[in-house]
Amino acid sequence: MAQYDVIIVGAGPSGMTASIYAARANMKVLLLDKLAPGGQIINTNEIQNYTGVGTINGAELAYKMYEHTQELNVEFDYRTVVKIEDHGEEKTVICEEDNMQYTTKTVILATGTKQRCLNLPTEEKFRGNGISWCAICDGAQYRDKDVVVIGGGNSAVEESIFLAGIVKSLTIVTMFDLTADPIACDKLRAMDHVKIYPYQDVLEFTGDDKLTGVRFKSTKTGEETTVPCDGVFEYIGLMPTTEYLKDTGLLNDYGYIKVNERMETAIPGIYAAGDCIVKNLRQVITACADGAIAAQEASHYVERLNG
Ligand SMILES: Cc1cc2nc3c(=O)[nH]c(=O)nc-3n(C[C@H](O)[C@H](O)[C@H](O)COP(=O)(O)OP(=O)(O)OC[C@H]3O[C@@H](n4cnc5c(N)ncnc54)[C@H](O)[C@@H]3O)c2cc1C
Repeated sequence: MAQYDVIIVGAGPSGMTASIYAARANMKVLLLDKLAPGGQIINTNEIQNYTGVGTINGAELAYKMYEHTQELNVEFDYRTVVKIEDHGEEKTVICEEDNMQYTTKTVILATGTKQRCLNLPTEEKFRGNGISWCAICDGAQYRDKDVVVIGGGNSAVEESIFLAGIVKSLTIVTMFDLTADPIACDKLRAMDHVKIYPYQDVLEFTGDDKLTGVRFKSTKTGEETTVPCDGVFEYIGLMPTTEYLKDTGLLNDYGYIKVNERMETAIPGIYAAGDCIVKNLRQVITACADGAIAAQEASHYVERLNG
């Protein structure tokens, strides 16, 4: 007899929303995350585009979502899921901590994405010591200092606007031009201590023990530039957090989970939701919508199992 009706892996916006819908469908729910509930929004200064909310601090929104799960008594635990096993009507969720194993009738995979790295030889040396992927976590260290942001998409531009309010100078180095929302791009361009270098390839992070700068080369003219800086923030895209699913056949060539419009994967009883699935728009509102659909489908599946 399975211990749970549904285990939700990942407590970001999609996983938390799935847990709310599952609890309201009277399912026995377990919500797991290797970190504090909230997912990527915890480390985001301002969340935009969530209907009816306007602009909200990411950690505040995460806390509100978690509170909502607790009003419905959703069971939450800190666990890193390393494997999912399908045994037909029962699935096993295996965790890293103490090799803990849970049994469940259904699983919802909501493990989101993580920031991509440039993989330059000098990058590892300065990881967490000059190079960061989280402006909210590490931005304050660079108050009145010189900072470079790498990337030109929505995350890069939004986090640059946040950093520009703290640092002495901000240089943006990007492979193409800025590709974020036009309103955000205009706001960033209007800031007087911000300089943008479009169409550049980053070649090297300079410095021996301490990061001293970034060297890059124009993809149009071949001209090389080195900008001195105290810190670098990389926002060059995301990759799915789905390593624990390799060899399951559930992933596409880029590691995203393949689902249909009901959030069903190729394995009956296993659903996926949010940023980790194959989709075009990765935002809080779409993650929550996927989570709601996945939970509703999982509850119908359990009803069918129970006859
Ligand atoms: C800098 C930045 C700014 C953004 N700004 C906005 C914005 O303004 N508006 C907007 O709508 N969206 C914004 N987004 C996008 C938004 O944050 C995501 O779309 C949303 O968080 C996706 O939710 P999710 O639940 O699918 O995944 P995530 O938020 O990525 O959550 C996944 C969770 O799964 C957990 N997890 C992963 N692997 C495991 C495992 N093996 N075991 C256990 N737990 C695991 C992680 O710890 C994490 O908590 C922004 C994103 C970034 C990075």
